Amino acid sequence: MTGAPRILPELALSPSALDRSSWLRGDVTWVPRLLDDESTQVVLARGDLLEARTDGSALVRHTPAEVTVTTDDIVVYLGADERGRQHLGLVRGPLEDEHRRQAPGDGHVVGGSTRWAGLRDLGLTLDPLDVALAATLIGMSHWHRAHGYCSRCGLPTSVVSSGWVRRCSGAHESYPVTSPAVIMAVVDSRDRLLLARNASWPQGRLSVLAGFVEPGESLEGAVVREVREEVGLEVEAVEYSGNQPWPFPASLMLAFTARARAGELCFADDEIAEARWYSREELRGDIRAGAVLAGGMPISVAYHLIERWLGEPIAALQQGPSVSR
Ligand SMILES: [Zn+2]
Repeated sequence: MTGAPRILPELALSPSALDRSSWLRGDVTWVPRLLDDESTQVVLARGDLLEARTDGSALVRHTPAEVTVTTDDIVVYLGADERGRQHLGLVRGPLEDEHRRQAPGDGHVVGGSTRWAGLRDLGLTLDPLDVALAATLIGMSHWHRAHGYCSRCGLPTSVVSSGWVRRCSGAHESYPVTSPAVIMAVVDSRDRLLLARNASWPQGRLSVLAGFVEPGESLEGAVVREVREEVGLEVEAVEYSGNQPWPFPASLMLAFTARARAGELCFADDEIAEARWYSREELRGDIRAGAVLAGGMPISVAYHLIERWLGEPIAALQQGPSVSR
């Protein structure tokens, strides 16, 4: 990997253009004051989806007067932009639930210039501020939906601290938790890249290995363990390569490179259906043939790890003249 930047540039979900001003969350008057202030910007999430402009260029902003906050809605204080404008997120149930209940909307017509879209869809087109707002709001939406009941006593929980804490009547509190996951580009002594297909993926889809960090484990330890578990190889020279939030539903992806010691690939773990070493020429050929999705989408860390190793844009190969679909 000589010549390539050690830290991956421009991971789509990494920008931190949002001042979260977390010390303001505990003030019980803070969200009501923001809802009374017409300069406050309100963005909406329904389940996994965000309200965005049809072209994906920005999240839709509402003034507080334009939205009706019901008792089913969760208001989350997201933070301020660099001009000091304050942002609230309004978390609502998934669209299909709303249709099932036939609940009235808030009068805002979605259609024409706006649509509901997921973060994977919007992550490459939003600006850094909106990426930060979107990733935070989607992560909080997932967390709120999964924590309606106290994990310690089972009582229903309610929302406090400007949307950042859930508390039951027994005063147990729960906080949004992010799970670190490692994702690693493993090369061999000939600088070939290891790509694998997860057992749940369709034929032809390959990516680098990844897995969650376990309690008590370092990031480097997780890289070594995951590679050993999934393909039976020992790795060394484990180096950090960057990170980005991955709120699907609650991960932080930490990228690494590692070099495998000599050994045979073996799939003791049934998580991996197949894996093999790729030379750059082999991977170029497979991408041109449309057979390899190579890490999925440009929004993913995997895509950038593979692209950096490859040394040329994956998209250009996919759009090449010999692509067959
Ligand atoms: Zn409780």
